[in-house]
Amino acid sequence: MNYEVIDSHCHLDFPKFNKDRHETIERARKCGVVQMINSGIDYKTNVDSLELAKKYDFVHATLGLSPQMVPDASEEKIKQILSQMERNIEKAVGIGEAGLDFYYCTTDTGRKKQEAVFRQVIEIADNYNKTLVIHGRNGEDLALEMTKDLNRVVFHCYGGSLETMKNIVDAGHYVSVPTLVCFSEHHKSIAQNLPLENMLIETDSPYLSPRKGRNEPSFVLDSVSVIANLKELEETDITRATIQNTRRAFEL
Ligand SMILES: [Zn+2]
Repeated sequence: MNYEVIDSHCHLDFPKFNKDRHETIERARKCGVVQMINSGIDYKTNVDSLELAKKYDFVHATLGLSPQMVPDASEEKIKQILSQMERNIEKAVGIGEAGLDFYYCTTDTGRKKQEAVFRQVIEIADNYNKTLVIHGRNGEDLALEMTKDLNRVVFHCYGGSLETMKNIVDAGHYVSVPTLVCFSEHHKSIAQNLPLENMLIETDSPYLSPRKGRNEPSFVLDSVSVIANLKELEETDITRATIQNTRRAFEL
């Protein structure tokens, strides 16, 4: 049986989809993926995300600045992306992905720079009252502390501790469960412990595929049965709640 779902985070503009982007999007729609949120990570992917959103009215763009590029990026380049966000704010449903990645970045100067840039991104989300999509790998606690007062925050592809997750939920933020939940024990316990009211689901395509090879938005359905089992609920309980949550989170 097919359900309606939303893939709350993907990168359909990435080169992995160059050969069959339209077919992939069509396939997702046929499988019941009614909306997809495509997140930029830098200047070019922000442009490409906006283009996709313009082409497909069920694809929505968020404008990002990935923490992974921050340690080596020039001031000039960062400024360029921040002003790109402000210029295009009306065409986007959110800001991000942005945040902290202390998994890849292990130097103190690099981490401080990520924090400083993230603060500027938060300010834009706050000033324009836009939903913020956080990439917070190994920096979830600090990312939460920095964004506590924002209205709408999504911790995308959450992989942090259950304790921090509880604080995120208490702050009224959303936690997005990736298709990793199909094979990762840690993500299974995240899904099990996360209140349904705070849950979004995502593929992070083309990454983290629950099947062989590339991930794609239609595979978000793979996670639905897994989460339903873990929470001892019906699959439609999961799809209905996550659709509602995503629409509320991004004001779709
Ligand atoms: Zn992503």
